[in-house]
Amino acid sequence: MTLPNLSEIELLAVERIRKHGAMSRTSLAKLLEISQASVTAIAGNLLEEGVLAEIGHGRSVGGRRPLILDINPGLGYVAGIDIGATSVDLALADFRGEILSRDSYQADVRVPPEVLLEKINQTIIKMLKVEGARPEHLLGLGMGVPGPVQYPEGLLIQPPLMPIWEGFSIKSYIKNQFPKVVPCIDNDVNIMAIGEAKVGGGIGMDNFMYVKIGTGIGCGVIMHGEIYRGSDGCAGDIGHICIDYNGPVCHCGNTGCLEYMAAGPAIAAMAMQAAESGESEHLIKRMQENGGSLSSIDVGELAAAGDRASIRIINESGKMIGGVLAGLVNFYNPQAIFIGGGVSKIGHQFLSAIRQYTLRRATALSTRSLRIDYSPLGDDAGVYGAIWLVLEHIFALVK
Ligand SMILES: [Zn+2]
Repeated sequence: MTLPNLSEIELLAVERIRKHGAMSRTSLAKLLEISQASVTAIAGNLLEEGVLAEIGHGRSVGGRRPLILDINPGLGYVAGIDIGATSVDLALADFRGEILSRDSYQADVRVPPEVLLEKINQTIIKMLKVEGARPEHLLGLGMGVPGPVQYPEGLLIQPPLMPIWEGFSIKSYIKNQFPKVVPCIDNDVNIMAIGEAKVGGGIGMDNFMYVKIGTGIGCGVIMHGEIYRGSDGCAGDIGHICIDYNGPVCHCGNTGCLEYMAAGPAIAAMAMQAAESGESEHLIKRMQENGGSLSSIDVGELAAAGDRASIRIINESGKMIGGVLAGLVNFYNPQAIFIGGGVSKIGHQFLSAIRQYTLRRATALSTRSLRIDYSPLGDDAGVYGAIWLVLEHIFALVK
């Protein structure tokens, strides 16, 4: 198992099959605008190299039924890793992106990178072993990390959650363990957007946003079918859009940032305030049961049970988020907004509030066919996106 060096036209052939699915040589020739003789030679080489496989016969269009070409799943293994602030999700997949095994565990990203990455490496080795494979059979590894990433270098730049990772080469560390691996490191929200684009709610969509609402708020932008990273890799950092110039000071140093005022901790803080002021008996009771604290999940549960203060808080957060999303919808006219992250688990009222305020504030034309939903892939968006990030990168023309 090794990655062959492919010519430009061979890479293009693989890219077309990856994008459009399995097809005959004739269809591939048409897509590439080359002769039947050329496609026969290209396909022959790609079959020999183990990049493509023949997966049976297609429908006849006069004459013999054509053999169908697809990516060879057995070319090697790829791993997808989604590092969250408090957890790590991993998956091992074949070259067609089918997940072979999964694992996840609690972890703290504030530990030194070597500690976290060593456990990830050992977990992947275990997963490979179950498949009867060795470390050198891992040919690709995609990883999402909860911080700003300089892409394609894969270096974290001033990550607020994991400051000691700044400048640490995740790629070199991984390559020491897996000699043949191509590593791809990106921001966690970007890989979630890629996951939705490839196997989730965004299939067939050219333009959509994936908004992660948890401790912070970030956004993955899919534009013309590709992830849009911006000129420095920090596109989609919507959490620090100002919604109140006289608002509280955010950890970024500015005032009135969306995430400081509307994300999970803000929802919890508004609930604590409502309990302390005596606005809601239910919140007071829940706070006592929790030993003096409240989370956004508590607020969601109590809102679903009809607690007026909790409904008000969810509505306030939804209004602030919806107001910013409306501006983004006006700006870039996406087909859909998928909402993920921990706070997306607090129930339907939160989604309704976001929907209501986005639709109310954005222009009529830009919302005519806009879909706003919770992420269809949920917690799986990250690992799927990590797998597809590296699968597409490995055979990409421009890296
Ligand atoms: Zn800020």
